[in-house]
Amino acid sequence: MSVQPEHETRLLVGGERTLGAGASLRVENPYTTETIVELAGASPEQVEAAVAAARQAWPGWARATAGERCEMLHEVARLLRENAEPLARTMTAEGGKPLIENRDELEWTAAAFDYYAEIGRDRAGRVIPPIESTQLAMVLREPLGVVGCIVPWNYPLLLLAWKVAPALAAGNCVVCKPSELTPLSTLMLAGPFGHLPAGVVNLLAGAGEVGAAIASHDGVDCVAFTGSVATGKRVAAACTPRMARMNLEMGGKDAFIVCSDVAPQLEVAARGGAWAAYLNAGQVCTSAERFYVAEEVFDDYVEAFVEHTRSLVLGDPFEVSTDVGPMVSDPQRAKAVAQLEAASATGAEVLVGGDRGGTERGHFLSPAVVVGAAPDSALLTEETFGPIAPLVPVRSLGEAIELANGTEFGLGANVYTADLENAVRCMRELRAGTVWINDPLTDNDAGPFGGFKQSGLGRELGREGLEAFQETKHVHMESRIERKEWWYPYSEYGAG
Ligand code: NAD
Repeated sequence: MSVQPEHETRLLVGGERTLGAGASLRVENPYTTETIVELAGASPEQVEAAVAAARQAWPGWARATAGERCEMLHEVARLLRENAEPLARTMTAEGGKPLIENRDELEWTAAAFDYYAEIGRDRAGRVIPPIESTQLAMVLREPLGVVGCIVPWNYPLLLLAWKVAPALAAGNCVVCKPSELTPLSTLMLAGPFGHLPAGVVNLLAGAGEVGAAIASHDGVDCVAFTGSVATGKRVAAACTPRMARMNLEMGGKDAFIVCSDVAPQLEVAARGGAWAAYLNAGQVCTSAERFYVAEEVFDDYVEAFVEHTRSLVLGDPFEVSTDVGPMVSDPQRAKAVAQLEAASATGAEVLVGGDRGGTERGHFLSPAVVVGAAPDSALLTEETFGPIAPLVPVRSLGEAIELANGTEFGLGANVYTADLENAVRCMRELRAGTVWINDPLTDNDAGPFGGFKQSGLGRELGREGLEAFQETKHVHMESRIERKEWWYPYSEYGAG
């Protein structure tokens, strides 16, 4: 039975709410496994219409003053907060993330619009020293045009905001595509974006083929993508022939290092580790997926980790007492279980969790603590995206850093230490886009977010997140119209 009002399944194309005419999507509640609604995604013609609407709206939006755009983005933030509860509830229904986490996500989403509303009116480039004193030389930052924003299901509104807010602040128009698993909360954004000129924001729905149509469209100047490494590479391949700009946020295999000096506060480090591993049922791009723990404190750390893991409550994501909700889908759960089973088959021991945790329905995987996983097991080498914490003892910090860096990924890394020398060494030597020391997974709108190596290309958030959606133009201006002595004929220049 549908629990969504009919209008919330409509796309937003050129300012019009319109029913999709493309392939059908079944949106499931991962807790009840019931169908919330079936809706039609965008047809190829609707993708065309959305890109055309964005292109048509672009000159006007680019011409709007930074102050006008600032006001409109603050209004988006205000409307997001005003509608936070229905949006958060829809996210929980379609994604399974606990309501408490989705309320947080809504606040971070609104904050991103407030942040870029201000950053967007703060500067438009810089003045540089000219070649001669009669000249003015400037570096202008200009909008790119139309930005395609393609996002996954784990943080549907936040990851969209990290693209849409800076893209709009920089004077671009956008065509957005949420994941096929979680389109409903995104389609509800037609309300909070309702005061923007028609076509500035277009909201589509659909699976990979809609994303691919956006990524390969000649009218899309830049693709901002968050998702898996495999899909990110497809997006890159679609952008490259026309040299479209791209900003890619991809997968990770984040390490979590616990130094021996943490001995007096092992319980805090264990709770921090558990949160970093199990948040959103482990479905965070920066989930802690490999723990490298100093051998001196390993046994005590494992004990504290297991004890805390046992205390976590699995259940209805709408209940405030629930710590860990279901995973988003059965295939996603099956992938994590397969890694766990393969690791067990080659000697790993699951100390707690790894089953349904007593639940009777829903895509639950109870948080699991694993020791003894083989170094080359998928559990320690490939992205897991589930609530599994493999713990590995290490002899030295050097070994921990080497293991942490020994992967094709480089999204984030965590460290627990009170020793300044250890902290500075980790800060310098870890090859990751974000290094968190003693405070796992805390984002900051002003702090650029993205990956080293195959974890991504470019950065979101911070000033870098705005510049990702700007073209750079050097303007060289001479105030006098005069012949330059180094022009032809060279006989005069050389003779001079
Ligand atoms: P996914 O790559 O399967 O899909 C991401 C989005 O791309 C979806 O909207 C999907 O429909 C679309 N898509 C699929 N095929 C496409 C194509 N050929 N062209 C264009 N778009 C296409 O990822 P997912 O399963 O939705 O999300 C999980 C992944 O996202 C994980 O790998 C996770 O690490 C990553 N992630 C990364 C970050 C980050 O900031 N680095 C944040 C969250 C999630």
